[in-house]
Amino acid sequence: MRGVKKENLPTKICIVCKRPFAWRKKWERHWDEVKYCSDACRGKKAAPNLTTKARRHE
Ligand SMILES: [Zn+2]
Repeated sequence: MRGVKKENLPTKICIVCKRPFAWRKKWERHWDEVKYCSDACRGKKAAPNLTTKARRHE
């Protein structure tokens, strides 16, 4: 990463926690598709169908 400063990395907003996160090497091949800052957020991703089903049982 010679010559690449951290502040020059592209960033996105995580759709789960709404926090900005920076480009990571592991995402270099699919950065356009990355929506979550971490695996934890990916696991918590918004699931409207599941939420609807859960509410029906209440
Ligand atoms: Zn997140």
